[in-house]
Amino acid sequence: MLNAFSLATALFARSSVRAMASLSTAAAPTGRVAVVGGGVTGLAAAKSLINQQVPCTLIDMGGRGVGGRVSSRVLELEGGQGPLSFDAGAQFFTAATPEFQRELAGWAAAGAAREWSGRHGRIAAGGDFELGQPGSSGGFFDAGSGQAMWVGTPTNGALMQHMAQELLAAAAQKQQQQQQQGQWQDTSRQQAAPLFELLSGVAVQSMERTGGGGCGGSGGRWALRGSRQGRAAAAAPAPPPGDQEDLGCYDAVILADAMPLLPGSAGHVAGIDAAASSLAQLARSVQAVAPQPCFALMVAFAQSLPGVPFDSATVEQPTTDCTSSSGSDGGSSSGNGGSGSSAFQWVACNSSKPGRPGGSSPQCWVALTTPQRAQHLLRAHPLIGPGGRFNPQTGEYRAAVAAELLADFRAFMQPFVQGALPEPVHVSAQRWGRAFVTEPLGAELLFLPAQRLALCSDVAAGGGVEAAWRSGRAAGETVGRMLRSA
Ligand SMILES: Cc1cc2nc3c(=O)[nH]c(=O)nc-3n(C[C@H](O)[C@H](O)[C@H](O)COP(=O)(O)OP(=O)(O)OC[C@H]3O[C@@H](n4cnc5c(N)ncnc54)[C@H](O)[C@@H]3O)c2cc1C
Repeated sequence: MLNAFSLATALFARSSVRAMASLSTAAAPTGRVAVVGGGVTGLAAAKSLINQQVPCTLIDMGGRGVGGRVSSRVLELEGGQGPLSFDAGAQFFTAATPEFQRELAGWAAAGAAREWSGRHGRIAAGGDFELGQPGSSGGFFDAGSGQAMWVGTPTNGALMQHMAQELLAAAAQKQQQQQQQGQWQDTSRQQAAPLFELLSGVAVQSMERTGGGGCGGSGGRWALRGSRQGRAAAAAPAPPPGDQEDLGCYDAVILADAMPLLPGSAGHVAGIDAAASSLAQLARSVQAVAPQPCFALMVAFAQSLPGVPFDSATVEQPTTDCTSSSGSDGGSSSGNGGSGSSAFQWVACNSSKPGRPGGSSPQCWVALTTPQRAQHLLRAHPLIGPGGRFNPQTGEYRAAVAAELLADFRAFMQPFVQGALPEPVHVSAQRWGRAFVTEPLGAELLFLPAQRLALCSDVAAGGGVEAAWRSGRAAGETVGRMLRSA
C-alpha cells in the first residue's frame, strides 16, 4: 500500500507536465481563505483551493484530528485480546457522480478505501432479515440497494487522515513549483504564508469583518479568533473576542459546517450575523433546518456471534410508532420491531468491513439509534447543559448512555444469534447531536460574494459523504475563482 506521501508523489509524477504548463500562466495567489470545519466538506473545499493555488487554512476543533462525522475509534483491550475497531460516525459511502467516482478511484488506488461487499439488507418491522436487492430503496444511506458500498481502510477515520495528508503533500509540491516558476519572489513571504495550513484542535469562536486594524489592507477582511483547546473550549462560556486567541486574517471564509451559525452548539462562531443582515437571515434559515441526533453504540465480543445472517442491516420501523411500549418518544428498548419500534435504525458488524482487525480479534459491532431513541436519551443526558452551554461527552456520560443502549442491543440482537448472546468485552457510546440533516437548504453551497463568505456541507447539499464532498468542492471552486479574478 502506498502511504499518503508516496501516493502524492506518484500522482504528481504522472501529472507534472500538465501542472507545470498551467502554472506558467497562473496568477500568483492573491488572498487567503479560512475553511472552518475539517470534515469531508472542509477537506474537499481545501483541496479545490489548493488545486487553484489559492492559499488556505483549514481549521478544525476535533480533538482526534480531522474527519468530523467520519470518525473511528481504534483501541487495544487489556490482556492482549487484540485491537478493536469501530466506525462511530459514517458507516460507509456510495459514489454516484463521476467526479466523486474519480476521487474515490484515487483513494482506492492508494489503499485508503475499499468496497465492503457483504450481506447487506434490512430487518423488516416484523423482525425478519431480508438480503438487499438491486434497485431497492429506503436503506440507511441507500445500503443494500445494489450500489457499491465503500469504506475507508483501515478505518473510515483513516480515510480522512489520508485526505489531509494528500493536501499537505499537494500543497508542498505546488509551492515548490511556484518557487521554481518564480511566482514567489520573496521566500520569506512564502514561509510566512504556506499554501496550505492545518490548524487541528482549534475552535473558531468569533469572526469580525474588518477593513483595517490588525488585519491591514483597505478591503474587507475577516479576523478570526478562538481557542486552541478545540472542542473542549465549548464547555465554558467563550471569553470576549478581545481575550480570544488570534487565528489570523483572511480574505474569504468558507464555513464547512452549520455549527458556526448555531448558538449553543460547540462550534458556534459569534459575530457572523453582525456583519450583514443577509448573514443573519442565513443563520436563521440554517437554524430552521432541524437536524436529527443519533447515538452510536460500539460493542465487542470475544468471539464472533454465531448464526447472525447479516453484516449490516437497515432496521425498518413500524409505520406508526404509537405501539411502542413506552409511547412515541423512543423510550422503548424493544428488540426486533414486532409490536414496538426498534431503538436502532442501523446495525453492522464492523469487523466484516475490509481492512479491519481479523483473526482472533474480538468481533466489533456498531448500532445507530433512531432519532426518537436519541431524543429520549437526550432528555436524561442533554446536549445543552445549564445556562445554555454545550454539555461535553465525558467518560461518565458515555458510560451511562452505553449501559442503556446495551440493553437495547441485547434485546434487538438476541433473536438473530444462536444461543444466548454472550457478555461483551467492550461497550462504549458516542453522541452525535447533529447527525443527520433532514431538510437541507437545497443548494450545493450558499455564497455571499460581498461578504466573501460561503456556507457548504450537508446542511446545504443534503446528507451523506458524497453530497458533503461535492458541496465542499463547489465552495472551494467558487471562492477560489472569485479571489483569482479579484
Ligand atoms: C452516526 C452517523 C452515521 C452516518 N452514516 C453515514 C453513512 O453511512 N453514509 C454516509 O454517506 N453518510 C453518513 N453520515 C453522514 C455523514 O457523516 C455526513 O453527512 C458528513 O460526514 C458531513 O460532513 P461535513 O464535513 O459536512 O460535516 P462534519 O463531518 O460534521 O464536519 C464538520 C467539522 O467542522 C468542525 N467545526 C464546526 N464548527 C467549528 C468551529 N467553530 N471551529 C472549528 N471547527 C469547527 C466540527 O468539529 C467538524 O469536525 C453519518 C453521520 C453520522 C453522525
